[in-house]
Amino acid sequence: MLGKCDKCGMKNVEVKSIKKENSEEQITLCNQCRPADGAYGY
Ligand SMILES: [Zn+2]
Repeated sequence: MLGKCDKCGMKNVEVKSIKKENSEEQITLCNQCRPADGAYGY
């Protein structure tokens, strides 16, 4: 879907809502900020 990335703040980019590891929080990330393998970790 198109939306705003929570990490880099870019708007109108292809984003996906991802559930943070070890948390119930959801974060919206663009393709750039999202790791290619789908894993998400700080
Ligand atoms: Zn981003």
